[in-house]
Amino acid sequence: AHLERIAAVDGEIHAFLHVDDETVLAQARAVDERRAAGEELGPLAGVPIAHKDVFTTADMPTTAGSRILEGWRPPYDATVTARLRRAGLVILGKTNMDEFAMGSSTENSAYGPTRNPWDRTRIPGGSSGGSSAAVAAYQAPLSTGTDTGGSIRQPAAVTGIVGMKPTYGGASRYGMIAFASSLDTPGPFARNVLDAALLQEAFSGYDPMDSTSIDKPVPPVVEAARRADVAGMTVGVVKEFGGEGYQPGVLARFNEAVELLESLGAKVVEVSCPNFSYALPAYYLIAPSECSSNLARFDAMRYGLRVGDDGTRSAEEVMALTRAEGFGDEVKRRIMLGTYALSSGYYDAYYGKAQQVRTLIARDFEAAFERVDVLVSPTTPTTAFPIGERADDPMAMYLADLCTIPSNLTGNAAISVPCGLAEAGSGGGDGTTGLPVGLQIMTPVLGDDRAYRVGAAVEK
Ligand code: GLN
Repeated sequence: AHLERIAAVDGEIHAFLHVDDETVLAQARAVDERRAAGEELGPLAGVPIAHKDVFTTADMPTTAGSRILEGWRPPYDATVTARLRRAGLVILGKTNMDEFAMGSSTENSAYGPTRNPWDRTRIPGGSSGGSSAAVAAYQAPLSTGTDTGGSIRQPAAVTGIVGMKPTYGGASRYGMIAFASSLDTPGPFARNVLDAALLQEAFSGYDPMDSTSIDKPVPPVVEAARRADVAGMTVGVVKEFGGEGYQPGVLARFNEAVELLESLGAKVVEVSCPNFSYALPAYYLIAPSECSSNLARFDAMRYGLRVGDDGTRSAEEVMALTRAEGFGDEVKRRIMLGTYALSSGYYDAYYGKAQQVRTLIARDFEAAFERVDVLVSPTTPTTAFPIGERADDPMAMYLADLCTIPSNLTGNAAISVPCGLAEAGSGGGDGTTGLPVGLQIMTPVLGDDRAYRVGAAVEK
């Protein structure tokens, strides 16, 4: 049924980069056989899932949305991929994304944009926009994403679904093509909070193949999603997130969600996190710095594209030609920024300073969590914007992640859950109406269960 749905609507949505019906049906038959052989399979066995094209898959191509990896077939499965298979999930295909996960709209994909199912002239968020659109358009009940600065929560918010960034290190990065290694976090998308918890549980947990993987039990996320109450909890509203730059339609839904939490028995207090204002600039030094180092491996020798290798050119010339043609503008912009920030003599001024800001943000979180159980904010300042609107304005694009980035810099968990639709005329001057708004719930490190508990209460 999901393959039929994909065939019917993906021409319009373009959520998928790769779907192969035969591979899908073979996986489904294999799950049936395992079940028939008496294997104990988990609650998601047989459930189809759309998989972000940043995770390696041994039976499907993996491009990370880049021309430089066109046609590459990885020799191995990412840990997340392997665990989906172990749990009996059936991988429908690979989803579209901003190139190497750099972006907030999926317009930076080398393979063309994905469209928001709510309004096909608008973006589905990014970088995991193929994954959010696939779930919102009922092409898949579940999908995977990665969140380095907001790439799960922001697309979830603007497509009206649930998206969770787990605690950094809670799920393995092995086989997940690296963007900024100290921030990259795999996580789930679903249409409800419990489904997201079941998926997170299926692929999380310690992996010796990832040196930053946490060797502790996975927080009780499924139990928390089932519990779905906020009685006795204290909820902190982050003072710095709101006001100027936020659409009134977003703030109206956010304020209602806060009132709802109060009516359900939570104590609501205002909390100031003064250093959160520096999260965006710090991120745009750290993420490009790490990306400039990680993307050095795309050297035309090891994977995918190779340009100009006609026997007359040096290896260096072939590398330069391949990288010039294989990388898109945003990726090049970040490599240049990052290389500059890491240059000898500039460390103290840029990268070192950004790392200090990171510590200050962690202290803001620590101080806040002495008083409250969770922090809340709108997930995004605006609803889904029109395709093309911010394509030539990187600064405007970067603002989409204003509220999500602090949790990446510190490794904290955070979820986005739908909290209604912006009303007609309230979405910011362009007639935006009826578009989804997301509520972000932030927790301490390894407090993932709290996000699910509060998120499920709001959903109910
Ligand atoms: N939009 C942010 C960026 O472009 C975050 C992307 C992400 O989380 N992968 O870097």
